Amino acid sequence: MVKKVYLPVAVAVIIFMLSQVLIVRQVWMQKDEVFKLRYRSVAREALGEMIMKTGDSGFDKAYYIIDGPASLYFDQTAQLLCYEDSIMFSEKVRSKLSGALEKDQLVSKYISGAFERLGLEKEFKYKILINELYLINFDEKYLVYRAPKEQLIKQRKEDHILVNTFYSEGNHYKISFDYYIDIGNKKLILLREISLTLVLSLLSLVILSAIFIATLNNYLKEKRLSDLKTDFINNMTHELKTPLSTITVAGKTLKLEQILSDRDKILNTANLISKQSLHLNNLINLILDISIWERTQFQLDIKETNIEELLREISEGFRNGCGSECTFTEKLDLNGAQANIDIIYFTTMVNNLLHNAVKYSNGTPEVTLTASSNEMVSISVEDNGIGISRSDQKHIFDKFFRVGTGNIHSTKGLGLGLYYVKKIAEAHGGNVTVSSKPGKGSVFTIYIPKI
Ligand code: ADP
Repeated sequence: MVKKVYLPVAVAVIIFMLSQVLIVRQVWMQKDEVFKLRYRSVAREALGEMIMKTGDSGFDKAYYIIDGPASLYFDQTAQLLCYEDSIMFSEKVRSKLSGALEKDQLVSKYISGAFERLGLEKEFKYKILINELYLINFDEKYLVYRAPKEQLIKQRKEDHILVNTFYSEGNHYKISFDYYIDIGNKKLILLREISLTLVLSLLSLVILSAIFIATLNNYLKEKRLSDLKTDFINNMTHELKTPLSTITVAGKTLKLEQILSDRDKILNTANLISKQSLHLNNLINLILDISIWERTQFQLDIKETNIEELLREISEGFRNGCGSECTFTEKLDLNGAQANIDIIYFTTMVNNLLHNAVKYSNGTPEVTLTASSNEMVSISVEDNGIGISRSDQKHIFDKFFRVGTGNIHSTKGLGLGLYYVKKIAEAHGGNVTVSSKPGKGSVFTIYIPKI
């Protein structure tokens, strides 16, 4: 069920996230394109300005310098014997000449100046990639290098901006090459430019996720409550049916001829009926009490009471009811402590704990009632029963909560006893705590302010 409702919402959130990622990516790509265009056009304008001012193509000095070695290299081409020799030779010539082009040029200085004037990033790296290089001697030509298209693309980095392709022909060479610039800080600059989009995107993601989590939590809470109510109705029907059927059978039994003539049997059956009616009455009262507390303020009939005396009466009743089926110990050390309490509710509260100690036991229940008085009166009920796991301890005082799920309970109950205990303890200005280990037993302690 949870899956059914939340799968579409989770899918919607994922789609939203992906769309945000796509939007940010799109904005980044657009900004990147604009960035490259801006730097390229400024660089080109700087080139034009440089030619106008100096009459230099930007590489004139380099062209002049490379002509000399080029003639020497041409002479060496005759000595190349095999293919491997020619490859090594080409590489040597290419790196030598492109090194000279990179070193003896004016271009980078002019471009950097133009960037600075316009407030752009003036620091950049540049790269020269040769497209075609020939060594020449009169009408003889030796092709040193021709860049294959795919190799050019591979050599070039994504961030390289092509400023211009240059072409030059000297006495002993013919060359065509590309001049690229690479703005090192580009990513940072772009990040700054898209920061608003990024922040808005992240914010909407955080808000959406928060809404999603809150809705999920709410739904799970509602669902738990609705499951608990369903369990409660099942349990209540079961709890009410049992004494009712016993009363019905007992009523029929009373009409039987052989019973009518036996006074003892009549008395036994009547006792059974009154015991079951009392149980039924208690159950209905418990449910009514709780439903009244939901709507109105707790009304306590407060009396100054000697707690030790009252606890002794409760113990007496419990010991008689329990008989030899359990071991019951009481350790009461209250020094006559008095507290303002409603005797009926207080008695029910302690009895609930005592009965649970028996109800949730494995073998023979060993129940200990301890009471002491410090700043508050503390009353503990300890048992050697099945115990409660840590995760269930968080919920046992909730209305309708029972350990286990659905109707799979070996013990009967409505999940209201501990809720009742907590409500009453709080109405007396106190509280209740639990400490328990599965398989070892539990200790419930009620704290009540003393006078
Ligand atoms: P009920 O007994 O009607 O189920 P309670 O509110 O009294 O309802 O108890 C809630 C749940 O807490 C019980 O279903 C039981 O699983 C657990 N519980 C209560 N008291 C004990 C105890 N002494 N030992 C182990 N489990 C207990």
